[in-house]
Amino acid sequence: RKPHVMKPEWLKIDLTSKKSTGETAGILSKHHMNTICTSGLCPNRAECWMARTATLMIGGDICTRKCRFCNTLSGRPRALDSNEPTRVAESIKALGLRYAVITSVDRDDLDDYGAAHWVQTIKEIQRLNPETKVELLIPDFMGKAELIRQVMATKPHVAGHNMETVRRLTPSVRSVARYDRSLEVLHEITKCGITAKTGFMLGLGETHEEILETMDDILKTGCKRLTLGQYLQPTAHHLPVSAYITPEQFANYKRIALEKGFKHVVSGPLVRSSYHAAEG
Ligand code: SF4
Ligand code: SF4
Repeated sequence: RKPHVMKPEWLKIDLTSKKSTGETAGILSKHHMNTICTSGLCPNRAECWMARTATLMIGGDICTRKCRFCNTLSGRPRALDSNEPTRVAESIKALGLRYAVITSVDRDDLDDYGAAHWVQTIKEIQRLNPETKVELLIPDFMGKAELIRQVMATKPHVAGHNMETVRRLTPSVRSVARYDRSLEVLHEITKCGITAKTGFMLGLGETHEEILETMDDILKTGCKRLTLGQYLQPTAHHLPVSAYITPEQFANYKRIALEKGFKHVVSGPLVRSSYHAAEG
């Protein structure tokens, strides 16, 4: 099947250009680590890995949800691996990461949605890598405030939770997640005194007004860091791209977001939530 819209020039990039990705990939595979950089087919691998930033995924590699934009496997996950916190912390050390972004699959099969495993992993990372800044990209923990608070008690540098898309498209783009619940997650993070961060994708069929409305809703939670990136269809089985947003439009949305009150905005066709995370 052909994509509905032609991919524009600014998205045709060479994923094999820089050599440090080979070394990083070797260390990751030795530690049996899942990264979003690889599983999400992220176009920024070479750049991020050279800058010693990577996004590691915990909780296994099978998600209980099935979002229509996401390339992660979904189904019934295996039991949590109690060695994973140590493996993650050791990989970060072996990679010499200056900035580690931790995310997970959603574990709706577990009583605590994986919160205790998150806490153990973060503590182990902090113990073995006291110099590394840790950014979290958390699931919604079904909106359970006490679970979010437990994770925030580890005092991460930044904690993010992505809105992914505008209100109207949420039911058709995300699975199980709700727009208002995700806003509540961001609010809970800021209430814990942790710097909150979020992002959403453009090119899924949202209107200009809906983008502005989403920005306003996010600002009301106290979250002032935003990433905006182009949705890219990972395989023919995923949602088709509805529009390719130009670099100029992305720059315009950045300007608008800053005017509205965001403090840190990264906006561009190849931007992912962890892109240039170490800045600012
Ligand atoms: Fe990995 Fe995020 Fe960088 Fe992509 S933007 S390579 S997912 S750290
Ligand atoms: Fe992907 Fe959705 Fe699962 Fe997150 S919750 S890993 S976006 S399927």
